[in-house]
Amino acid sequence: MGRTLKIALAGTILAGVAALSTAQAQTPLSAADAAGANGPYSVFTGTIADMTWPDVGAQAKAGAVAIWGIAVIEEHGPAMPLGTDTYGAAVTTRLVKADLEAKGIKSLVVPAFAWGASDSTSVFPGTLSVRPEILTELMVDVFKSLNNTGFKTVYLIPGHGDAGHNMAIYKAVKRSAKEAGIKAVMVTNAALATRIGVDPKDPDLALTAAGPPPAGPPPEFIDGHSGTGEHSNMLAYYPKVVKQDVVPTLKQAGVTPAKLVDWRKGGQFTLDITPQGYTGDPSKADPVRGRAASLAAAQGMADAIAANLKK
Ligand SMILES: [Zn+2]
Repeated sequence: MGRTLKIALAGTILAGVAALSTAQAQTPLSAADAAGANGPYSVFTGTIADMTWPDVGAQAKAGAVAIWGIAVIEEHGPAMPLGTDTYGAAVTTRLVKADLEAKGIKSLVVPAFAWGASDSTSVFPGTLSVRPEILTELMVDVFKSLNNTGFKTVYLIPGHGDAGHNMAIYKAVKRSAKEAGIKAVMVTNAALATRIGVDPKDPDLALTAAGPPPAGPPPEFIDGHSGTGEHSNMLAYYPKVVKQDVVPTLKQAGVTPAKLVDWRKGGQFTLDITPQGYTGDPSKADPVRGRAASLAAAQGMADAIAANLKK
């Protein structure tokens, strides 16, 4: 990792650093946020992996809740690394922890889970996909360890949109109380719950509030997997692993909502619709937008967790 980093630093990083400085000047950073932008380059930053067992045990027993991002290693187009969703989960959980802290809620972050399930992109080299049932079993085992550590509650934050992946998380959550003695809650939104066939009113979900309806007609093309949004987030928080000279060359992929339905089937469907492995328009990516979107998303999740804790 260190050597890769140095090589990346020697390249086109200067432009990204300049853009990042602008972003920082415009948006006040929390300590946790700043650590992600300029501090230790590690997905363990701010998680229990960087703590000792007495410290984790004491805080869990004092009532801290656990937060766990569940992501994957999968292709993210020709400019972003395979770990994009896992980096994203690391950022999100770190920001959620800071937002909860501001509300007076103590939490600890479990390192982001990287071995997820991905039907749609497994046709590409580098995507690592496990069977959803393996994902569920592993999560239940980790719940047992969290219970042994003293946690009473764990909030799961999905970091990847695949339906099978999210259903695996939901199934683990449903087994947590009986098999692991811990309350697990899936932080999600009504649209995703509905897409995977789960009632949004399910008591084991903590739903983020739906945003205001978009002004004007819906956009012709979707900005989903590896689009403007994800590129913006990575340029904001992990610019060193993005091929910044390639991003401006990735123009609108032209994936309509109808095509997205086929794209999710995987295999040749995915290859035909996104031959380069991205949707949306990465050339429009902007780290300032990425920072604002990440902070807003984390705030929404912290609000959902705070509301769930009051139930
Ligand atoms: Zn992604």
